[in-house]
Amino acid sequence: MQNEKCEVLVVGAGPTGLMAACLLEQCGIHVKIIDKSISASQESRAAVMSARSLELFASLGMSETVLAQGAITRNIDFFISGRHQGGLDYAHCTSVDTPFRFILMIPQSRTEAIMLDRLQSRGIHVQRGAELVALRTLANGAEADVVSASEQKTIEAIYHWRRRWSQYRPAFARSRFRRRKISAKFFAGRRAC
Ligand SMILES: Cc1cc2nc3c(=O)[nH]c(=O)nc-3n(C[C@H](O)[C@H](O)[C@H](O)COP(=O)(O)OP(=O)(O)OC[C@H]3O[C@@H](n4cnc5c(N)ncnc54)[C@H](O)[C@@H]3O)c2cc1C
Repeated sequence: MQNEKCEVLVVGAGPTGLMAACLLEQCGIHVKIIDKSISASQESRAAVMSARSLELFASLGMSETVLAQGAITRNIDFFISGRHQGGLDYAHCTSVDTPFRFILMIPQSRTEAIMLDRLQSRGIHVQRGAELVALRTLANGAEADVVSASEQKTIEAIYHWRRRWSQYRPAFARSRFRRRKISAKFFAGRRAC
């Protein structure tokens, strides 16, 4: 049985896991990704991307890439047997605190491919056909049993948050986030959707 180590083990290379991995990698955290599926999804699935997801892509410097591969949509119409049955006007969902005041139509498979490209360019590859079968909590992290067709291994994920915090604390103290007040308007704008 093999043993591997990382700081954070991401289980599942769907949109959630891939975005988590991108954000962790951006913070310099050593991340591994496994997925029990042999291949990436090919379907459109979650084809509607909203402002918050685009903001996360923007924080990775990737919003232009995502926008270029999707279609900006301001309303959706529903038809049954060729007859218009109603629709949604996203003008009612706009919020002043985001630059992305629209819905982006983009197939989930393409969104995943964009994130996979970014991770691969940074040397992070999804270990496919690898299933998490057991997870144990350790005093300082977690230990995962992972099974694939060719091997069984244990991945130890230990995130040294104390070390990380002391590393980031000086930068955090200077950052605008610490001083920023989140106004009630911000939440009201979000709720309006
Ligand atoms: C057929 C279909 C059609 C859909 N259509 C729409 C749609 O039209 N609009 C919409 O908004 N949403 C749609 N969805 C939902 C959308 O796909 C999900 O909301 C989205 O995929 C969730 O992303 P996720 O990363 O959280 O999970 P997932 O995309 O499900 O990814 C989870 C990943 O974890 C892996 N995994 C699970 N357990 C383990 C384990 N033990 N070890 C290793 N890997 C593991 C899985 O293989 C999978 O790749 C659809 C879903 C399906 C299945």
